[in-house]
Amino acid sequence: MQVMVQKFGGTSVQSSENREHVIRHIREALVQEYKLVVVVSALGRKPDPYATDSLLGLVDFPTNTNSSRELDLLMSCGEVISSVVLSNELQKNHISAVALTGAQAGFVTNEDFNRAKIKEVNPTRILKELETHDVVVVAGFQGQSESGEITTIGRGGSDTSAAALGVALSAERIEIFTDVEGIMTADPRVVKNARPLDVVTYTEICNLAYQGAKVIHPRAVEIAMQGKIPMRIRSTYSEQLGTLVTSSRVHELGMDIPDRMITGIAHISPVTQIKVQTKESAYRVQSEVFKAMAEAGISVDFINISPTGVVYTVPDTLTTKAIEILEMLGFHPEVTEGCAKVSAVGAGMTGVPGVASKIVQALTDSGVQILQSADSHTTIWVLVHNDDLITAVNALHDVFGLSITEELQES
Ligand code: ADP
Ligand code: ASP
Ligand code: MG
Repeated sequence: MQVMVQKFGGTSVQSSENREHVIRHIREALVQEYKLVVVVSALGRKPDPYATDSLLGLVDFPTNTNSSRELDLLMSCGEVISSVVLSNELQKNHISAVALTGAQAGFVTNEDFNRAKIKEVNPTRILKELETHDVVVVAGFQGQSESGEITTIGRGGSDTSAAALGVALSAERIEIFTDVEGIMTADPRVVKNARPLDVVTYTEICNLAYQGAKVIHPRAVEIAMQGKIPMRIRSTYSEQLGTLVTSSRVHELGMDIPDRMITGIAHISPVTQIKVQTKESAYRVQSEVFKAMAEAGISVDFINISPTGVVYTVPDTLTTKAIEILEMLGFHPEVTEGCAKVSAVGAGMTGVPGVASKIVQALTDSGVQILQSADSHTTIWVLVHNDDLITAVNALHDVFGLSITEELQES
């Protein structure tokens, strides 16, 4: 039995008109004689009534801090509703389908509510349903702990559900359908001439995704990579094949994956930069600040430590909490809210001289102030004011010629 896993994101299942496109892709896979497991996200985006953020609004999240257990119970309903709506429409279209919650589909997670880890996927029930149905529609983003608690696996987690199912079912392919043509050289909402990539390696897209390219969840890519299941990221609204994600250098299209110096530009915003200067013991600042952040569950990023103090970023939503904690410890942090972390990502930059200077020059020429920077062998990061985000991302996209096709870049 050939199994394919398809995942449709929130906007793809938002309206019955959009779901007609979904059903067309499902039909196409059925014509090719695949047994289909379809993972769905909650319907639409806020203010659509059953979107995840709208459900959270029912309990006044985050102002009113409800129990994380109840939040999971609430959020899981969005994907359950979506699975029933789609399977109902499939039935109306004479396609035999059944809807399952994450728990019914065999997702076992730990009990770390709101960001649970998938421990295991037991596909027995899905395989049984596939004996009598052509399509099993699974509610993404959720599972159940061993003690029976309903959990969710972190925002954007339906991609991860699809990848985990792909591996558990040894699927031939995982197709992630979304509202753009595939993985692009930058977020097309920020860079108008961003270009879709035909093929990328798991590592390339994983780096981009960790740096904020939310078109795919990085955990989903890691799971597919470990299970060696090829993925495609493609548009719900077109017939284009989108981006193939694979590890092999010569992929199924018979082309080499080009050695790109820069694969793309990604960004995360808004974030807050926090500086704590050292007056007495540098050691006390370094150890106490990060220990306190960790104990409060605040994930810190872009950390620079020097004898004169520490600098780091937190998501803007956690700024108030972080400052309160620092002040309670007797520190006087210098805080810059409304920043953006912009990253140039590409495995081919390793050992190539001049990449950082090109970035600095492009940003300076565009009048963008760099607040902080860091680099690794595959990524260069800069922190800028959020007001400069669009200028900065476009400047880097232009300076590396990313809107030009690879063939032209080579010539
Ligand atoms: P879904 O609901 O289908 O999961 P998401 O909103 O999570 O969709 O992800 C798709 C969005 O990701 C696109 O609309 C696009 O704005 C954004 N995006 C960010 N970076 C990239 C990128 N490099 N390539 C494509 N899309 C990107
Ligand atoms: N509905 C969830 C979210 O908005 C999961 C997902 O869309 O992947 O985060
Ligand atoms: Mg998503």
